[in-house]
Amino acid sequence: HHHVLYATAEGVAAVVDTGHFHPEAILWQHLPTYQQEGGFELWRHCRTGRVSVEALCALLEQSGLRGLGGAGFPTVKKWHAVRQAGGPRYCVINADEGEPGTFKDRYYLEKAPHRFLEGALVSAWAVEAERLYIYLRDEYPGLHRVLHEAVAELEKASLVAPGFIIIRRGAGAYICGEESALIESLEGKPGKPRNRPPYVAQEGLFGCPTLVNNVETVYWIPLIWQRGAEWFAGQGRHGRSGLRSFSLSGRVKKPGVYLAPAGITLRELIDEYGGGMAAGHELAAYLPGGASGGILPASKADIPLDFDTLQDHGSFIGSAAIIVLSRHDNLQAVAANLLAFFADESCGQCTPCRVGTEKMLTLLESDHWDVQALTRLAQVMQDASICGLGQAAPNPVLGLLKDFRPALSQQQIIVSDAEGRTP
Ligand code: SF4
Repeated sequence: HHHVLYATAEGVAAVVDTGHFHPEAILWQHLPTYQQEGGFELWRHCRTGRVSVEALCALLEQSGLRGLGGAGFPTVKKWHAVRQAGGPRYCVINADEGEPGTFKDRYYLEKAPHRFLEGALVSAWAVEAERLYIYLRDEYPGLHRVLHEAVAELEKASLVAPGFIIIRRGAGAYICGEESALIESLEGKPGKPRNRPPYVAQEGLFGCPTLVNNVETVYWIPLIWQRGAEWFAGQGRHGRSGLRSFSLSGRVKKPGVYLAPAGITLRELIDEYGGGMAAGHELAAYLPGGASGGILPASKADIPLDFDTLQDHGSFIGSAAIIVLSRHDNLQAVAANLLAFFADESCGQCTPCRVGTEKMLTLLESDHWDVQALTRLAQVMQDASICGLGQAAPNPVLGLLKDFRPALSQQQIIVSDAEGRTP
């Protein structure tokens, strides 16, 4: 067993026992075992016309399945958008899981690659795609091997035509998780996000309508079909519905991937799943959506962790990477670390992001935070950046300015405008 350090922000790191760092040691479920538990039954029904696209759409709509890569867009709506555009069409699975603190897709791919592949094939079928591309991040070399072997098993069993599934490796760029950059990269070009419109549902891979789904989203499709829409939809908490896979890390006793009811609060997640706070640590703050979802104070530990509620608090859940901070964590270092990450990963295509992230990092490294300069810069980045990276980069800083003034002054950061006035 190997321990992998998930460094997220300075002073914040989760040690996760992955159990199988070496590709050879990944114990994945092979095809016969998956088929014994009903695997590929849905796929066979789809191919033989026993399940119609309409029936499947109705089922998924009832289940409330949303995109679990970050944006939370209703899955069926996305399918419809692509179906409405003329063919040929493509289906692309985003397995570029690069959001700091997120490791849930990896967990499902390591555990049950065939269930994932069945869901992916069904999605491709639903939009009548010519090909199914899987874009896998290069930092998951073990999974690269697993997926190749799993696809070979499928081809051998004649469950899929040879060459229909194409696995592509990323090259370590965070921005290639953004769907239009991912498509550029698949086309062999530098991973730079496109301007929208047109959306990739209309003009995606090689100019064709393209469905881009996240790994976990499609992973649930065969299970929802087997167990029913009610099973999935009926599991929420605090008035929310569905299930979510939280990647929990930071100052908790047991970091890991936890499948929990949608709408669970941070406090419940830490206590019921994470084994409580780590010894000697008291909850001070948390990042609800990796590097991009902003930062919330301990006083907001009892709000439901879901798409809509968090938006009202100026943050977002994204791919549900929850990073827990305590008073031992230096907030200035956290903010600077996150901005350094964004500055590093910016594709450099647009000025507000390329220059803005660098500039914001410089402003944050001063012990005297100029609120006016920071908020104005944040506004420009949010308004004028081409893609989500530049738009989300100021989130942690805005969160700190909004909810952490006393904590910042305790850590000797003076927050004021350029003339030294405290706004
Ligand atoms: Fe590239 Fe940043 Fe502009 Fe996105 S916002 S296109 S990452 S420079």
